[in-house]
Amino acid sequence: MNKHLFSIKTFFVLAMALLCSMQTMAQKKYTEKDLAALKQTLMQTVAGKSKEVQVMVDQIFSFAELGFQEVETSKYITSVLTKNGFTVENGISNVPTAWMAKWGTGSPVIALGSDVDCIPKASQKPGVAYKAPIVEGAPGHGEGHNSGQAVIIYAAIAMKELMEREKLPGTILIWPGIAEELVGTKAWYVRDGYFKNVDACIFTHVSGDFTSSYGDNGGNGLVSVRFDFEGEAAHAAGQPWRAKSALDAVELMNVGWNFKREHLKPTNRSHYVIVDGGDQPNVVPSKASVWYYFRERTYEDIKMNYESGIKIAEGAAMMTNTKMTHQMLGTAWPGHFNKPLAEAMYANIQKVGMPTWDEKDIALAKGVQALVEAPKKDQQGNPIDGLKTSIDTLKGSVAFSWGGGSDDIADISWNLPTIVLRYPANIPGTKGHHWADAIAMATPIAHKGSLVGAEATAMTLLDLFTKPSLVADAKKYFKEVQTKEVQYIPFITKDDPPAIHLNKEIQGAFRSQLEKFYYDPSKYGTYLEQLGVTYPTVKKP
Ligand SMILES: [Zn+2]
Repeated sequence: MNKHLFSIKTFFVLAMALLCSMQTMAQKKYTEKDLAALKQTLMQTVAGKSKEVQVMVDQIFSFAELGFQEVETSKYITSVLTKNGFTVENGISNVPTAWMAKWGTGSPVIALGSDVDCIPKASQKPGVAYKAPIVEGAPGHGEGHNSGQAVIIYAAIAMKELMEREKLPGTILIWPGIAEELVGTKAWYVRDGYFKNVDACIFTHVSGDFTSSYGDNGGNGLVSVRFDFEGEAAHAAGQPWRAKSALDAVELMNVGWNFKREHLKPTNRSHYVIVDGGDQPNVVPSKASVWYYFRERTYEDIKMNYESGIKIAEGAAMMTNTKMTHQMLGTAWPGHFNKPLAEAMYANIQKVGMPTWDEKDIALAKGVQALVEAPKKDQQGNPIDGLKTSIDTLKGSVAFSWGGGSDDIADISWNLPTIVLRYPANIPGTKGHHWADAIAMATPIAHKGSLVGAEATAMTLLDLFTKPSLVADAKKYFKEVQTKEVQYIPFITKDDPPAIHLNKEIQGAFRSQLEKFYYDPSKYGTYLEQLGVTYPTVKKP
């Protein structure tokens, strides 16, 4: 009994001591001078990982996997994370290629994310400024999503080393934007609670610029919806009057939507592909499908267009006596990003500065700009000529926007303080979603741009883990400015499954051919070396 009492007492004393030391740990105050020195150390640690960054950028480039089919990419990245002490939960939100990796304990909890999927028919040899696919017709990194994971992972690993040394409490999460091109997962992660107890999120995206932004970024949100029509087949010459054509329904729906365009706001962007138009002309198609992206600037306008689309589809079904069903395949809200976090990131971007480009990098950039007939100036009126040599300004909410692209990072940004770091790993002036956008993505341009991105990310992590006021300010902006009048309403229901079947056939058709070109870092210094590309190759021999 006495012994028991003693042990309880000892336990209590020890527990109190532990609590006190934890408090001192949490309250450890750093002066600006301390932080500046720590940032310098972090920069050096990240710079010391330039080889690892290059290998990861090149490796993911070589896998060339489309949304929901990022099998090799996922296996590779999670193995790197596990080797570096992260615990990995695979298959989050019922998406086989998704994961959530975690290191550390306690608060704050900071999540780092970046996309990993590529673009159909964008296969291209890196470093070559004319069309030269690695595998003809295959997917390729014509968006540059092969570079973002290296940015966050090597920033996180450098920060983790520093946290261990300094005994800093806090948790780092690393997750992938699976199927971003299909805006296919981030709203699902949110719905399934993966961001519930997260204090802030840093997302990174490839760019020709080096900057961040806050507020309404001027982009559109969207719903991605497939409409399936079912009719009756018949001999198209013998007895066509006995058929109900599902393809007629698809065409009538498209005609209806294209007439509707006149009465939509100029900020609307909508586009479709016919994913099933029947099998052969002499069989009246009993099945046909069309896949739409309805984009607009606000939740209300996206919803209105989505509902109009359904009505038009119902009308087309009525006209053709077919049956119509529709399925949500993806969704993104319009973006809004956090001001205090963007300012902290921007201050670090200023410290890091642009990479040092050499003559070869500039020659490739100019070669690509000539190839794609790049405009002389960007939309802000800045010249497009080679690579950027200074960082961009920090931009706030746009007063007006004609609309544009979307990213489902917005669904996370409406649930917790979030920013997007744009790091300079690609050539300005390209078209986007095109094989020419892949040219720089496994060259020194992508390697150097990703490295500076990692440096700025690491320093912003240091700010978040050492300045409780930054996290508090970020939350204050989120609560009192961003969500003061706008409340997040998801477009997906609690039952909508992620569309993990997408791209299976396309990837399957090319996987064995692409496998022959997977990067082998044990044999080759770089992917350019493995492919035998002289950097840069600007003129066709
Ligand atoms: Zn992207």
